[in-house]
Amino acid sequence: MKFYQSTRGGARVAACEAILEGIAPDGGLYTPEEFPRLDMEKLREMDALEISTQVLAALLDGFSEAEMARIVREGYAGKFETEDLTPVVKAGDVHVLELFRGPTSAFKDVALSLLPRLMTASRDKAGAREEIAVLTATSGDTGKAALEGFCDVPDTRIVVFYPEDGVSDVQKAQMRTQRGQNVRVCAVRGNFDDAQTGVKAVFADDRAHGWAARENTRLSSANSINLGRLAPQVAYYFKSYLDLARRGEIAMGEAVNFVVPTGNFGDILAGDFARRMGLPVARLVCASNANNVLTDFIRTGVYDRRRAFHKTASPSMDILVSSNLERYLYLESGRDAALVARLMRELTEKGVYTAPESVRKALAERFWAGCADDAAAFEAIARVWRECGYLLDTHTAVAWAVCEQFRREADNGKKTVVLATASPYKFAASVLTALGRAPAPGFAALDELNALTGVSVPKNLAAIRDLPALHTDVVDKADILSYVKEALR
Ligand SMILES: *Cc1c(COP(=O)(O)O)cnc(C)c1O
Repeated sequence: MKFYQSTRGGARVAACEAILEGIAPDGGLYTPEEFPRLDMEKLREMDALEISTQVLAALLDGFSEAEMARIVREGYAGKFETEDLTPVVKAGDVHVLELFRGPTSAFKDVALSLLPRLMTASRDKAGAREEIAVLTATSGDTGKAALEGFCDVPDTRIVVFYPEDGVSDVQKAQMRTQRGQNVRVCAVRGNFDDAQTGVKAVFADDRAHGWAARENTRLSSANSINLGRLAPQVAYYFKSYLDLARRGEIAMGEAVNFVVPTGNFGDILAGDFARRMGLPVARLVCASNANNVLTDFIRTGVYDRRRAFHKTASPSMDILVSSNLERYLYLESGRDAALVARLMRELTEKGVYTAPESVRKALAERFWAGCADDAAAFEAIARVWRECGYLLDTHTAVAWAVCEQFRREADNGKKTVVLATASPYKFAASVLTALGRAPAPGFAALDELNALTGVSVPKNLAAIRDLPALHTDVVDKADILSYVKEALR
């Protein structure tokens, strides 16, 4: 049997326990003790669902291939726009890996479509019988992707809280129209911090867990540090590589660069996991927006969060503490849990830490980092549309701009894949602004962008405006616990 260790040394568990617990009791993140190597020749003939099955069964010990095939099929089949889930398309001389063809048009669908079933299967393996109730505070994308992922999955429920004044009109409409017997959505008066503080208070309240246990329910979260969210992302690195090989763009074994628009360091860490599992990765290029704490870290080895927080046009990357980086520190320091625990304490207490030499060396060899502010991202949107006829969203545009920096400053002559994390229609107003238009409010911006570019609106977004609002509850943050109790009864 294989085990998963907390990055801070205090726990060592099976994959199913890591998925059920999310975060370790010592605050660390569960990380595989070893990385199995995959047989690329065997994967070569496989489709997207089969590749996901292979990657997940290898990475999450204790799940059989047949079991994983069922989880993957039930989680994905029929829910993505294309059968190959995450298509690779060419724009200019760059290969774009489209991760936004899922039910909410954001890349978080790839992981959140599987997480609910990974959780219930883990619960069965752990011999438990309780219902899993996921509570999430969202600033936009994650909440809707989690709602779609958990919608009508047996033995699960989900309650999502969003800030009444902190999400876009389209995001609000996406959540208020959510269907499903096991879902609840509620607005919180205030901003995202109010919603998040309220939900955190529920998790910190022992009485809440005691109450849930009496209701035969386990309270859980769907956040991005869960091993069950990271693992599904490893698959699309393999899949995109094999797509290029099958098209003759690369020879098998040839190393490829991946440029990743980064926030919490989850997506790009999945690329590092893929490399550890045998994928020929040349460089992982970490692209940040104006919140460029990772750019500085990868270049200097000093992580310093003591800086202004910028609200940008790529809000899902507006992050100053990239939680998944902790796993990388752990792996590259030779699994030195005491060191990781100390660095994380320094980050909390002083807001800054310095990585040891071994980590700095590995970062310099395997990664490259750059940042692009809104102006640079908007410029990329306009130019790529004009020159390549490809429409970038604001997050992917950051990656594109950084990809160009990388080629100017550190090109290694390898083929490059840019990860595209959202549909331009999720951020239609910003994309229109980038194209020199003054956007109309709400859904009218979608029509305007469609009229201007002819790029089709994703079905899920087009359908929303005709759906009835099913969720209209609004609470104060102090009332979140009583709302949860009522919702889960
Ligand atoms: C979450 C998100 C990201 C950042 O991914 P991380 O795993 O947090 O690095 C980038 N783009 C979009 C659209 C996202 O929703």
